[in-house]
Amino acid sequence: MERLAVHLIPVLRDNYIFLLVDHQERKAVVVDPAQAQPVLEQVESLGVELTAIWNTHHCWDHVGGNQALKERYPQLKIYASQADGERKRIPGQTEYLKHGDTFSFAGEEVQVFFVPGHTLGHIAYWLPQSSHLFAGDTLFGAGCGRLHEGTPAQMQASLNQLRSLPDETLVWCAHEYTLSNLRFALTVDPNNPDLKERLKEVEVLRAQGKPSVPLRLGEEKRTNPFLRYDQPALQKTTGAFDPVNVFAKVRSLKDRW
Ligand code: FE
Repeated sequence: MERLAVHLIPVLRDNYIFLLVDHQERKAVVVDPAQAQPVLEQVESLGVELTAIWNTHHCWDHVGGNQALKERYPQLKIYASQADGERKRIPGQTEYLKHGDTFSFAGEEVQVFFVPGHTLGHIAYWLPQSSHLFAGDTLFGAGCGRLHEGTPAQMQASLNQLRSLPDETLVWCAHEYTLSNLRFALTVDPNNPDLKERLKEVEVLRAQGKPSVPLRLGEEKRTNPFLRYDQPALQKTTGAFDPVNVFAKVRSLKDRW
């Protein structure tokens, strides 16, 4: 058995909570607990100790379970960005992360990326050794988060950082939006054969009730219009050339779709 395992817990309408388990130490951390109860059930059934929460950003469907988990496990460390810490909007936050910070879990290095755009305090967690990326609401299957607080330039720069990671990276995003995103993607990148193929595959997966997450970053690079801001097909659709402008137009088309 691998030392590190990732468990996906579907909650609410389309959110995913991720429980990372270190099988050697019998310890676990949870990414973006929208709710506490499903996490407690999973932790108890696995017989592990919950030691930390890693929050990607402050939205209620990512931090909703923080307080109740802290009550159950008073020693819990709660990681989130320094930027959200300054805004005092992460319940129970104890650790304040900046871009480039590193720490460890399950004998692996965890690297922090500052990825503003969806919100101004959003971070992502990357485990290069096992290729896991916890992207929150920055990168979705064939999509990206809405610009609730940030600008197109901020979000495009954030996505550009994530796009620079290796193709084999497994992207754990916080919502199951992939199928609908793929249908939109075909309206802006209609002649992309990889996109047509992926839509068929995800239709089958979802019809079977299976998650489309984790995503594979290499496939996102080929099919996600929000990562294809320098591709001729997207430049043609948007009539723009500069990556930020291409991205901004695709985002506004999606907002009105
Ligand atoms: Fe969300």
